[in-house]
Amino acid sequence: MSTLYLRAARVLTGVDNGVIKDAAVQVDDGRIVAVGPAAQVPPPADPSVPQVDYGDATLLPGLIDAHVHLTLRRGLDTPLPAVPVTDERALLQGVEAARGVLAAGVTTVRDCAARGHHAQELRDAVEDGIITGPHILASGPPITTTAGHIWPLGYEADSVTEVRRAVRRLVKEGVDFIKVCATGGRGTPGSVIGRAQYSTEELRAVVEDAHRLGRHVATHALGTEGIRRAVEAGIDTIEHCAWLGLDGETLAFDEAVVESMATQGLVASIAAGPPWEVFHQDKELAGSSRPTTVARLETMKERWPLVHRMRELGVQVCFATDSVYGMFEDFHDLSYLAQALVEYGDFPPLDVIEMLTAVPAQAIGWGDRIGTIEPGKLADLLVVKGNPIEDIQALHAVTAVYQAGALVA
Ligand SMILES: [Zn+2]
Repeated sequence: MSTLYLRAARVLTGVDNGVIKDAAVQVDDGRIVAVGPAAQVPPPADPSVPQVDYGDATLLPGLIDAHVHLTLRRGLDTPLPAVPVTDERALLQGVEAARGVLAAGVTTVRDCAARGHHAQELRDAVEDGIITGPHILASGPPITTTAGHIWPLGYEADSVTEVRRAVRRLVKEGVDFIKVCATGGRGTPGSVIGRAQYSTEELRAVVEDAHRLGRHVATHALGTEGIRRAVEAGIDTIEHCAWLGLDGETLAFDEAVVESMATQGLVASIAAGPPWEVFHQDKELAGSSRPTTVARLETMKERWPLVHRMRELGVQVCFATDSVYGMFEDFHDLSYLAQALVEYGDFPPLDVIEMLTAVPAQAIGWGDRIGTIEPGKLADLLVVKGNPIEDIQALHAVTAVYQAGALVA
């Protein structure tokens, strides 16, 4: 396996926001064995071990996008997700996205809803070396109510018995985690954003069975009513977590629920794509039925203070793109999101990087494998030109991407 020695002007370890200057990383058999100042981590004596000095570059953990939809494409996702394309095309779209996001520095994704077995097949194709792509955790079809959010992709289940059966069926189909829709969603006409789709009892049944079977649970939750029930049920990651009132528009932040999230160690996974027109003028997209640039950015600016407050109250927060790809040709959606968070959201760059590496690694249950640069972890590494702490846009300047020490992009 891959053994190598890397140097760079700085390494962001992801451990307590650590920054090591003039640093080196030693990789042995795909795993990190040493990291520190180059003076303390000397090159290996064996001259056959490859050594790369990236100069004025930053080495950081490979990025993690904890909420994507590799097989879906913008323009094809509304009003009924994924209906217009064939299975074969959806899978090919997934192959393209897998290659693209990896080249953009994202070494792990969690695919939070795909039709049939698409996401599992993509995951296995990457692990078997058939295609290049990030490590993929797949939920497969989401569990939702009849006619509920994202039903064309999902398994409809309307009672405690039915949700349990859906969990067991998904596990049989090889999923890595369970996605359940606790509220309605924007892409699904007729679903109600501000209202909960399931009772606490039903959500609890999902959690009980998923945990029994060794899977964590992610829930789509825009409205506070659904968030509250999801938290009562102990769902591991609350996706979007938008705190919308019963009308689906006004904010209804609930600090008691937030405190319960913190106590239980539940993660808020703020899945919302970057306001693309801010970064990327695309006439056709800008003219679509989606919210305009200004409205979208204003919406985010309204929500981000709630994220700051959640963090103050001790909730672990990660950000994710919810990407239905096609927004950025280069698949740099996550880097654009990072840029938006720093430039418009008042989040310090190091915190943003932590929320795209160490925190999501924990959230998806891979905290012992990836997310930081420390001995024992997989050498999933990203090298970018320049210094993202001073200029977050450096995240776009991808120089190299490693997976388990192998150069993959
Ligand atoms: Zn999503």
